[in-house]
Amino acid sequence: MDFDTIAAISTPMGEGAIAIVRLSGDEAIAIADHIFQAPNRKKLAEQATHTIHYGHLIDPATEEVVEEVMLSLMRGPKTFTREDVVEINCHGGLVSVNRVLQLALRYGARLAEPGEFTKRAFLNGRIDLSQAEAVMDLIRAKTDRAMNVALTQMDGKLSRLIGQLRQALLETLAQVEVNIDYPEYDDVEEMTVPVLLEKCSWVRDEIDKLLTTSSQGKILREGLSTVILGRPNVGKSSLLNSLVHENKAIVTNIAGTTRDIIEEYVNVRGVPLRLVDTAGIRETEDIVERIGVERSREALKGADLILLVLNGAESLSPEDERLFETIEHMDYIVVVNKTDLPQQIDLQYVQKLAGTRRIVTTSLLQEEGVAELEEAISALFFEGQVEGGDMTYVSNARHIALLHQARKTVEDALNAAEAGVPVDMVQIDVTRTWEILGEIVGDTVQESLINQLFSQFCLGK
Ligand code: GDP
Ligand code: ZN
Repeated sequence: MDFDTIAAISTPMGEGAIAIVRLSGDEAIAIADHIFQAPNRKKLAEQATHTIHYGHLIDPATEEVVEEVMLSLMRGPKTFTREDVVEINCHGGLVSVNRVLQLALRYGARLAEPGEFTKRAFLNGRIDLSQAEAVMDLIRAKTDRAMNVALTQMDGKLSRLIGQLRQALLETLAQVEVNIDYPEYDDVEEMTVPVLLEKCSWVRDEIDKLLTTSSQGKILREGLSTVILGRPNVGKSSLLNSLVHENKAIVTNIAGTTRDIIEEYVNVRGVPLRLVDTAGIRETEDIVERIGVERSREALKGADLILLVLNGAESLSPEDERLFETIEHMDYIVVVNKTDLPQQIDLQYVQKLAGTRRIVTTSLLQEEGVAELEEAISALFFEGQVEGGDMTYVSNARHIALLHQARKTVEDALNAAEAGVPVDMVQIDVTRTWEILGEIVGDTVQESLINQLFSQFCLGK
């Protein structure tokens, strides 16, 4: 395909000592040659591919030296976009990076749209859509585990599995075709239905397996939204502080989206906790104090996990019991705090209220019990799940929605076949399933969707 040459800053703004301005397209090397001068005056066009060159950027109009740079020269197709790519490594300051970008733009490049590099990799056939989306997830990944999910997806693991499912459906369709072409042979129909049932139920089961990973995958990607709940003075702020201080706090700036937000995360043994309304909790001490028990229900609605803090040095109050009722149907862990003081709380009764949920005792003052709490959080999340490389996770909301649709159409096909509906009618559902699965890897998606997807990317990716 033929595209113009695009350029963008491809390292996060204002971070790090080195910044990279990336050029991609047919003119990338020519443009670089126009503004770059090596000490030996050799042109980049004469240099071997995948080589690094030291030199200066010089504005041809004024002959002024703009920057001292290292420049990577990579000819397509062995590049991320499959096009010729030049990466200019310069000093990280905002002003100097911008100068380099402006220079490239003045001499023939066009400013890349958000996600345009990845979009080109997709359009040039280097990656499929689910891999492109993985690049986006990777940029946003908040923990190592989330990163691994994105990496295996980028590696094409999900694409391969989807490919296998579609292949099975194609084989079914081929069998149905034979059936339609030779309607006079009764035994063909007899053969077709078992093939249909077998392949379609395999596809359904595989989709089910994928969907069971989806909630985990989504959480790994977006963080487990966590609310710390409890009466005043039980130790909520102390808990928040020890979770933030003992774990790497991750501050992520999701740039390139319409909602440029800064979120705070802590990484608890590979589980990203998104501490909901952290600023609010910190400023006004806590949700319950601020808005009252009734309205705190609202804040709790979107939560994946509640940490219910109780004061072990006091007996359980009616207010505590109301909190238990409020979160009755949610995932929560009970934290009985202040174990350094003489204990008043009836732990057996607490366990009765909590049912099968874990109770962890802590003294946040003496920094005791936090490790057990972290262990409980991680166990809640990974319990019964196969960990490690064998699992294909789906985490992307678009993929999950499509898998649910495909699950439904393949189920329709199965029900129809079992009910003795003629196979050429069943064929419609099978074909639809094949199409829906194709949308995950970008085989059957419309251009508008592609544009919308790529526009969500960060600038420079
Ligand atoms: P919050 O109102 O629920 O956010 O509770 P805070 O975290 O602000 O704590 C209230 C008071 O309890 C503070 O004076 C803390 O120092 C104290 N506190 C917190 N955890 C413990 C603990 O484990 N033992 C004791 N003795 N005091 C604690
Ligand atoms: Zn507090």
